[in-house]
Amino acid sequence: MTFSELKLHPDLLAALPSQYQRPTRIQQLTIPVILAKQDVLALAQTGSGKTLAFGLPLLQKIQLQQLQQDLTPPQALILVPTRELATQIGTVLQPLAQAMHIGTVTLCGGVAQEQQLAALATGPQLLVATPGRLLDLLEQQLLSPDAITQLVLDEADRLLEMGFWPDIQKILAKLPAKRQTLLFSATLPAELENIASHLLTDPARLEAHAGN
Ligand code: ADP
Ligand code: MG
Repeated sequence: MTFSELKLHPDLLAALPSQYQRPTRIQQLTIPVILAKQDVLALAQTGSGKTLAFGLPLLQKIQLQQLQQDLTPPQALILVPTRELATQIGTVLQPLAQAMHIGTVTLCGGVAQEQQLAALATGPQLLVATPGRLLDLLEQQLLSPDAITQLVLDEADRLLEMGFWPDIQKILAKLPAKRQTLLFSATLPAELENIASHLLTDPARLEAHAGN
């Protein structure tokens, strides 16, 4: 299978670095389902290509939404457990987003709030954030969550392990109830499975394991 068979936008395909010749297994599984607007519980080990497995369809959906309605950004939020991961995902998705004329901003601790507010003032459609900093900005009403209809929890097992669940619940309470939620994880501890069953609506459970 090739990336173009996954019905991705030509501008996204053109911006994809040439070393990405074929989608990985988890990308093959999740991209069509996410484009079809279904909630997803995706399980695959570290290094299996999960960033693009949610990143590519998310960017395509943001672009479609922009064409269809006059939305006030941001429309999509990727929550991750660490600053390093937020930066890494931002770096991978930024050039792809730019090719689709989509603005992205990374929000995490360790960066001056004024700097992040200046970045937010540019009206980014996609946020990559750690829960603590995002909640902080939401509680100060420096950011409107009203149009965020796409939510990704990446490394959901680590979000849970690192004790972010109370913050995430507060964030969830501020987001529109009608949204698409995507949960990506390397492992599925019982506690996460329980949370997923409440958080996701009629999800597709997609798993890619070594040798699969
Ligand atoms: P995960 O989030 O599952 O740990 P990443 O999204 O960080 O995995 O990707 C792991 C590595 O695989 C990265 O170096 C990334 O550039 C590379 N990669 C992702 N998708 C592909 C692909 N389709 N073809 C080749 N390499 C890929
Ligand atoms: Mg990852």
